[in-house]
Amino acid sequence: MPASLADADLNAETPTALALQSISHRFGSVLAVDDLSLELEPGELVCLLGPSGCGKTTALRLAAGLENLQQGRIAMDGRVIAEPGRGVPPEDRSVGLVFQDYALFPHLDVSENIAFGLRHLDAAARQTAIRRALAQVGLTGFDANYPHELSGGQQQRVALARALAPQPRIMLLDEPFSGLDERLRHEVRDETLHVLEAAGTATLMVTHDPEEAMFMADRIALMNGGRLVQVGAPDRLYFHPVDAFAAEFFGEINRLPGRIEDGQVITPLGKLPTEMPDGGQPVEVLVRPEAIRLLPPGDTAGSGHAAARVIAARLLGRSSLVHLSVQQADGEALHLHARVPGRFLPATDDAFSLDLDPALAFVFPMSEAT
Ligand code: ATP
Repeated sequence: MPASLADADLNAETPTALALQSISHRFGSVLAVDDLSLELEPGELVCLLGPSGCGKTTALRLAAGLENLQQGRIAMDGRVIAEPGRGVPPEDRSVGLVFQDYALFPHLDVSENIAFGLRHLDAAARQTAIRRALAQVGLTGFDANYPHELSGGQQQRVALARALAPQPRIMLLDEPFSGLDERLRHEVRDETLHVLEAAGTATLMVTHDPEEAMFMADRIALMNGGRLVQVGAPDRLYFHPVDAFAAEFFGEINRLPGRIEDGQVITPLGKLPTEMPDGGQPVEVLVRPEAIRLLPPGDTAGSGHAAARVIAARLLGRSSLVHLSVQQADGEALHLHARVPGRFLPATDDAFSLDLDPALAFVFPMSEAT
């Protein structure tokens, strides 16, 4: 054990900005974080994504030093900052924190709010840092405003400026946009992304919204039940989910029964390639709605084909959702949802031949998918 945590130099040559190494955390009988390992490269934005209660916030709080580490190790820039029983206090970790509720002091104006984390600087340096942070978030000239004089989006930008002002090594954001209404949320997260990119600060952001994670993240770390399910670039998780949970988390999905035969998966919509071992075993095929293409009846040009009838079609804005019924060999009807671009609204009972995009159809053993 080193004399001081800061002396424990793990890897001085290519330090990762933040490394969570096999961290676990228990609240009584609840294992909130279960053997989580994750690294952030300098300048990288990683989203911790997952359903409510999966341990995202706990992982973030452990990185911030707001919870004492029970198991594992946390390092920043190659130096250990937390181990069980000892940790660098939050204020000495060089982390900038942004929470859902902004946590601005209502009785302090914008510049005093930002100055809160800059008490170690002299007055002149403090003013320079405040001006720089306000310029970063596009709020130059708002220093004397009080939080109640600002919109929700502006308040969130002040919270971001306050976190960035001390020029932390790491930014930790916990659902920073969920207090904003939908239109404002899109606007503020776009601004935040550009501010963080310009600042170049490695960022770990918690969200439960897969679209938000895909919008913001260089890499997504998907969690479930305290464990890391999959980590990678957004397109990796969307196009190559490791299991049914990962496939379903990124949006609505159709479930088709399948069977492996002669190196292919036989589905009601035709055959798909697979690398799973042969043996006639049943599998479940998860298909994204945009993977189902609607062709003229009788058209068998695609990779798979099946006769389908339209049950209903609804315009959803940028795309339309078509409800389809496919008669299976056993006489059972299969209800499918196809998402088609633009304003394509077929009439009820229209007939189509369905084709499947194999890149958006995922095959899993029956036990995993059910
Ligand atoms: P959400 O998106 O709802 O905030 P989350 O993924 O961030 O969820 P956590 O807040 O980390 O999840 O919670 C993980 C688990 O730990 C949950 O079962 C939660 O009830 C439990 N938990 C979190 N904080 C505490 C606490 N202070 N005391 C007891 N249990 C807690």
